[in-house]
Amino acid sequence: MNSCVNHPDKKAISVCHNCGKEYCPECLTEGEEYYYCKRPECQAVLKKEIVTELPLEVTCPSCSALIELSDEERQAKSFHCGSCEAFIDFNYDPPKIHKPESYEEVFSSLNLGDIAIIKSIFEDAKIDYQVFGENFLLTDPLIQPARVVVTESQLEEAKNLLKDFEPNIFGISRKNETEDEQ
Ligand SMILES: [Zn+2]
Ligand SMILES: [Zn+2]
Ligand SMILES: [Zn+2]
Repeated sequence: MNSCVNHPDKKAISVCHNCGKEYCPECLTEGEEYYYCKRPECQAVLKKEIVTELPLEVTCPSCSALIELSDEERQAKSFHCGSCEAFIDFNYDPPKIHKPESYEEVFSSLNLGDIAIIKSIFEDAKIDYQVFGENFLLTDPLIQPARVVVTESQLEEAKNLLKDFEPNIFGISRKNETEDEQ
């Protein structure tokens, strides 16, 4: 190894995976697999490596169909297979497969606060729930709602628990409308 490109007096320990130049520890950021230097274009590559972990296309682990993923799905590492209708969550290894017949949607919202409340309600009641698309809300609130699903056997119980729940955005306006009419 030569000396660091930025610091001629320091020994380089590794190369930047993007630009290939040699740097000292101070000038490198450690990614999931490689080192990157502090140049903006190299940091951009590093960010991509960390955030986007799913490829453009994945094979559905449930039905083996080749699924094209949106950027949001790749970042969320979960998607809904249009072929077999299963929800696939790659945040787990092996990926979690939720078959549509065993899970029913009880709630969907663009509001992260709503989802958090529902999660705590279901956790208290020991409902076996899953949230899909939750990460979308962090990247762009308007892309698509997060969906809360529960097993079919607990669907009635879950609906019952949510019967008095007023969702934040949509619920409030709806409530006001009914009050005005009365
Ligand atoms: Zn670099
Ligand atoms: Zn350096
Ligand atoms: Zn599938």
